[in-house]
Amino acid sequence: MDRKINIAIDGYSSCGKGTLAKMLARSLGYLFIDTGAMYRAVTLAMIRKGLMPEDTEAVEALLPTLEISFRHNDRENFYNTYLNGEDVEKEIRSMEVSQLVSPVSRIESVRSFLVNQQQYLGRNKGVVMDGRDIGTVVFPDAELKIFMTARPEVRARRRFNELQQNGDTTATYQQVLDNLNARDLQDSTRVNSPLKQAADARVIDNSELTREQQYQLALNMAEAAIRG
Ligand code: C5P
Repeated sequence: MDRKINIAIDGYSSCGKGTLAKMLARSLGYLFIDTGAMYRAVTLAMIRKGLMPEDTEAVEALLPTLEISFRHNDRENFYNTYLNGEDVEKEIRSMEVSQLVSPVSRIESVRSFLVNQQQYLGRNKGVVMDGRDIGTVVFPDAELKIFMTARPEVRARRRFNELQQNGDTTATYQQVLDNLNARDLQDSTRVNSPLKQAADARVIDNSELTREQQYQLALNMAEAAIRG
């Protein structure tokens, strides 16, 4: 049997990391972990408690009460994010959460809480994990690291369409674009685990690639990495 590896997919907001990670995980029979969903779930819990990211100590005190998990969704053949047993998949994608998630993800205790869980999930290999610091901090030894990017306008259009499909018509295209640019700036300039390309990462710019083309490119990289 082929050896199992860990695949780290990092990159800018809304450049299709999740889509690619899911396709790879499905064809390799690996576990897919969306680490952005974990930061979003913490943010949602914080909002529900009426807290703001500046309330660092109160947010820290909230962490031990949070149980974040992923459960299979038979209808869409995928995994939904659960927070303390409740399906929050839709709510964590709202603009309200998107606007607060980057400041929340800067909080040191939030990062160590989630990074520990992510490392545990990947301890036996066979995981495709997407995020911002997977190849640099969570799995610096991942056998394959992919860094994804695309032009901001392309990314904003995709995320805008996704929101509309989910029935969220409150945000305009411009608001989505502004949010992406703001998050990218905050994520790449923060002191703690900033978004940056790992030295040994392979770059995929998918501005001009179809899903299928990008998948084939990444699958070839994965198969070569598995062969070693
Ligand atoms: O991937 P997604 O866009 O859902 O991530 C939401 C936010 O969570 C990012 O903008 C970033 O602030 C934070 N994040 C992070 N580290 C990760 C994954 C996400 O800081 N590994």
